[in-house]
Order: sequence, then C-alpha cells, then structure tokens
Amino acid sequence: ETILEIRQLKKTYPDGTEALKNINLSIKRGEFIVIIGPSGAGKSTFLRSINRLSEPTSGEIIFHGEDIVKANRAKLRKMRRNIGMIFQGFNLVKRLPTVRNVLHGKLGYMSTWKGALGLFNQEEVEEALSILERVGLEDQAFKRADELSGGQQQRVAIARAINQSPSIILADEPIASLDPNSSRVVMDYLQKACQEEGFTTIVNLHQVDFAKEYADRIVGIKNGEIYFDGPVKELSDDV
Ligand code: ADP
Ligand code: ADP
Repeated sequence: ETILEIRQLKKTYPDGTEALKNINLSIKRGEFIVIIGPSGAGKSTFLRSINRLSEPTSGEIIFHGEDIVKANRAKLRKMRRNIGMIFQGFNLVKRLPTVRNVLHGKLGYMSTWKGALGLFNQEEVEEALSILERVGLEDQAFKRADELSGGQQQRVAIARAINQSPSIILADEPIASLDPNSSRVVMDYLQKACQEEGFTTIVNLHQVDFAKEYADRIVGIKNGEIYFDGPVKELSDDV
C-alpha cells in the first residue's frame, strides 16, 4: 500500500538555487527509508517539502490520497497532525520538563503554544510517562529538557513523536550533532519505535555507515536528483 507518492517535485529558492530538480518517489506503509547524499544535495529541502516547511515550487506530494502541495492552511494543519518531525536540533521547549515536551506531541507539530496552557489530564500525563519509559528516560521525566544530554533530548523528541501517533515520521539529520555512541542509541530507539508503532519513516543521514545499518531502503540524492534507490545490498561501496 502506497502511503506517500511524490511526483515531479521541484524546489528553486528565490536566489535561483535549484535544490530539487525532479524528484519522483513512491513510499509504502511501514518502510524505513534513509536518504543519503553529500552536504548541499537537497536532502533537507526534500524532507521539509513533505510537510511544507519548505514550499515546493511545483510537483505533487500525495499523502493518504491527498495532495499536500495543494492543501489550504486548514487542510495542511490537519495533514501535519499525521506527520511527526524530528530535527537535528531536537526542537524541545528547553525550560519545560521532558514529560511536558512529550505531551506536546498530542497537539501536533507547531502547536506547542496550547501546551503552555497545560491542558492535559492525568490519563494523558500517565501515557506520556509510559512513553518516556519506552525510550529509557523514566528517570528524567521531571527534569528540564535542557538538563538532558543531546542523545537524551533526541529520545524525548522520539517520545513526543510516538505520542503524536502520526502515520509517518520525518527525521532530518537526527544524529548529526551526536557522538557515535549516542547516535547508535538514538537510531536504535527510532527504529524500535517505528517497528512497534508501524510508522513509515524517512530519515536524512549524511553518514553512509549508519544508513546501511538501519535502512530497509536507501535513496541517494545528489545535486537535487535521485541517483540511487534500492535496498542496502545494491548500494556500491564507493558512495
Ligand atoms: P542538504 O540537506 O543535502 O545538505 P539542503 O536541502 O540543505 O541540502 O540544500 C540544498 C541546496 O539548497 C544547497 O545548495 C543549499 O545551499 C541551498 N539552500 C538551502 N536552503 C536555502 C535557502 N533558504 N535559500 C537558498 N538556498 C538554499
Ligand atoms: P542544514 O545543516 O540543515 O543543511 P544549513 O546550516 O545548511 O542547515 O542551513 C540552515 C538554514 O539556512 C536553513 O533554514 C536553510 O534553509 C538556510 N540556508 C541554507 N543554505 C542557504 C543558502 N545558500 N542561502 C540562504 N539560506 C540558506
């Protein structure tokens, strides 16, 4: 079953940079896809186009049968509820306890202002605590987010995405700022969450070794174009 179908996606920035030239990609439910490619290849623009953090110049992004590119603001907000985002910089609310950050997942991406009002019931809080346990952070639940290490903060971001229960997760360089050990722990929890929750997952990584270790399918992007799309075993050693 195809969950995401991208057709002739193009992005030209106002300064004329052609970040995406003509991307075509069909993604099935439950796939764990890693996008690789050198810095400046267009990986981040591609991932951010899917939920329109970056506005595509042209093309179609069919998600659950509807074109995200054509969606109006209200529709887009609704569609984004179903898309979890994980960023290189974690994007947690630093001053709030980790459990509050996990609760924000319930509100969907970019709606954290509602969370500031603290509108959560006990059942929701207990659920958030049990999700924190699943990423091994039950002891950190009431610490401020910025007291945690980078790897721990990224696990909070994974917990927040689990609590959002989206159908797809987009992770843009989630381990770029972490050391190799924390990177492995974060990727393990991300993979586990996706298997357990049945998320379809697209992860941008510039580290080919990690990509080979975790991906079901690798998509290589260079100069705004796909140069490879297939299983890990078909990827040649010289990329
Ligand atoms: P990657 O994630 O693979 O490093 P990006 O998607 O960040 O690649 O960038 C692709 C290309 O688009 C690069 O040439 C980059 O400099 C350019 N670019 C990215 N964001 C902008 C922007 N806001 N304005 C102009 N050019 C941009
Ligand atoms: P990343 O590490 O994700 O590639 P960058 O440091 O390249 O991020 O970019 C940080 C921000 O600057 C992003 O919002 C990106 O869109 C923007 N940006 C990147 N390249 C350019 C560029 N050539 N011109 C203008 N903005 C850019």
